[in-house]
Amino acid sequence: REFPPLLAVDGVKVSYGAIQALRGVTLSVGKGEVVALIGANGAGKTSTLRAVSGMLKPVGGRITFKGEDITGAKAHQLVPRGMAHAPEGRGVFPNLTVLENLELGAYLRKDADGIASDLEKSYTLFPRLKDRRKQLAGTLSGGEQQMLAIARALLSRPTLLLLDEPSLGLAPQVTETIFRNLQDVNASGVSILLVEQNAHLALNFAHYGYVLETGEVVMAGAGKALLDSPEIRKAYLGE
Ligand code: ATP
Repeated sequence: REFPPLLAVDGVKVSYGAIQALRGVTLSVGKGEVVALIGANGAGKTSTLRAVSGMLKPVGGRITFKGEDITGAKAHQLVPRGMAHAPEGRGVFPNLTVLENLELGAYLRKDADGIASDLEKSYTLFPRLKDRRKQLAGTLSGGEQQMLAIARALLSRPTLLLLDEPSLGLAPQVTETIFRNLQDVNASGVSILLVEQNAHLALNFAHYGYVLETGEVVMAGAGKALLDSPEIRKAYLGE
């Protein structure tokens, strides 16, 4: 893997009061890579993403993005530097329309022409959103809300997209559509750090993967290598 990476997470610790959720997580995402973070419920996957995107302040360790130390930086400072987070539970605004939600994704941009062309791109990527652009986001199906969350994150023109459980609660065909679209997003040059409960899906999609257990990385390797690992097959792929 190329060095230095786009994102380097080095020994990051996160606590919620007395609960130590991350005990020193170290991982990296290279330019153009899709990296998956897998692990059981409560392993610390969401906390890792939240620490990276500035939603949580680490109590230890260091995070570097594009060669800059961003440890402790806030989310609104990281968006203009090229980091976008499509959070767990999607986080769309239910009482705003699809279009208004998308426009919010571009709120820090001033290039009206660029925004208009990126809106068209999101409609090409997810035609369903174009049909529903005047509809309130709260009335969308779960899959459509997930598409909206991803499209909204992309409207900030990120270099790195952080995705938390895009398959959660979705039918297999809908999940398949979303992952096919994510492949196109990655092919357009966006690096992706993906948290997924569905290890099979995640490791098939990702170039590289990390396994998290009780707040620590316990295994790492190429996506396909992890898929073939007997330990992973037993613990995470139900074999
Ligand atoms: P899941 O797949 O269930 O979301 P996860 O791997 O994303 O799990 P985290 O959500 O990061 O794990 O949680 C890591 C640990 O931190 C868990 O023990 C969890 O109970 C705890 N935790 C997470 N959020 C909070 C919070 N706001 N307050 C207290 N403890 C929390």
